[in-house]
Amino acid sequence: MPNIGQRIVMKFGGTSMAGIERIRHVADRVKREVADGNQVAVVVSAMAGETDRLVQLCKDAAPLYDPREYDVVVASGEQVTAGLLAMTLQGMGLNARSYMGWQLPIRASGHASALIEGIDVAVLERVFDDRGIAVIPGFQGVTSEGALATLGRGGSDTSAVALAVAAKADRCDIYTDVDGVYTTDPRIVPRARKLDVVTYEEMLELASVGAKVLQTRSVGLAMRYGMPLQVLSSFEDLPGTMIVADEGTTMERNIITGIAHDRNEAFITLTGLPDRPGTVAAIFRPLADAGINVDMIVQSARAGLKSDLTFTVPKASLAHSVDALAKVKEAGGFEEIVTNTDIVKVSVVGVGMRSNAGIAAQMFDTLAERQINIVAISTSEIKVSVLISEDYTELAVRVLHTAFGLDAPAAALDAGAAA
Ligand code: ADP
Ligand code: ASP
Ligand code: MG
Repeated sequence: MPNIGQRIVMKFGGTSMAGIERIRHVADRVKREVADGNQVAVVVSAMAGETDRLVQLCKDAAPLYDPREYDVVVASGEQVTAGLLAMTLQGMGLNARSYMGWQLPIRASGHASALIEGIDVAVLERVFDDRGIAVIPGFQGVTSEGALATLGRGGSDTSAVALAVAAKADRCDIYTDVDGVYTTDPRIVPRARKLDVVTYEEMLELASVGAKVLQTRSVGLAMRYGMPLQVLSSFEDLPGTMIVADEGTTMERNIITGIAHDRNEAFITLTGLPDRPGTVAAIFRPLADAGINVDMIVQSARAGLKSDLTFTVPKASLAHSVDALAKVKEAGGFEEIVTNTDIVKVSVVGVGMRSNAGIAAQMFDTLAERQINIVAISTSEIKVSVLISEDYTELAVRVLHTAFGLDAPAAALDAGAAA
């Protein structure tokens, strides 16, 4: 029977690529998809832990490292795995070759968290025509000056979706070390439940508040172009999670879809801000100019008195933020700067929040019962986030998961353990 093949972009994460044994397993998975008559392009991450190691080397070399050189260093992890997977596939008799970001090219602008400007698909189309398999390093692109660029942590997901969109693929499959998207990180809450489907909108919000199973930008891209996206296990043949535009009729109707936490934020408190127009602008302008994303902002102001301002930035941007604020301090913009990295942001997300009041209150009550102190709060239409001490991460996520009725029934857990 002739097989009407599909065009699929498969992406394999760091744990899936950690070592030759696992790369062989990935190659088998790719081979199966090709044997089914599909056209396949593969996007790979660096081996687990490798990017962390490279980032640390950059920090050791220069705390205020040049982002251009940072990209040269951190992009190398994906180059290694792309070559290794291509060799492994060739060893299995398949027509595979690696193509670096600059060879396609994947055009990008900026450094350290570069944006994809566009992808030329001519090379890729030729590979498909020759019934070949292109193996592409995730996370990297090339700037108009010909320099290497990387797409921010977790960026291989975005590489994969962008390639799928550019190549007009039928779908993009993200293979990782869990078998789908759960109501919260299953490594923290064993009672987390796997979601069969989740909307782009909810996934976008979950990802943006720390559910690192997909990089936020990858979900945004898939949503914008209606690219069918699936999260699957690299290790087991199990149905994964489909990310879809609309909730199907079978989707569970919880008000809260999931809970996420983010340990990658640091907070900065500035004291002694003068009470006059322009004070806050003078602080955030240099941060914006340095490309630093400010997240939660809390100001305690009383008319006529000096005030304090607290806000969060990514931990990775803390040194750059303090540097950018030094001049503001010199100019009398504030008195003291205090920083803290021992914090975590915990968020509850769900489209059901739109039609249900009291979610924030229930969240605060639940944390209060456990004596967990809240440092800052931010909300959107479908999310409430709180900043708390990092020591309480597990406890907070667990009690909120139970309080919002997300725990898997004990029977389901027993069945899972027996399987
Ligand atoms: P990869 O290297 O494959 O890109 P990541 O480590 O980036 O893998 O993402 C997968 C991890 O995301 C899982 O191991 C899990 O701990 C974490 N995670 C956080 N929140 C969730 C969630 N809601 N559902 C599934 N996994 C989650
Ligand atoms: N290797 C990169 C990182 O660890 C990109 C990725 O895995 O998605 O952030
Ligand atoms: Mg990832």
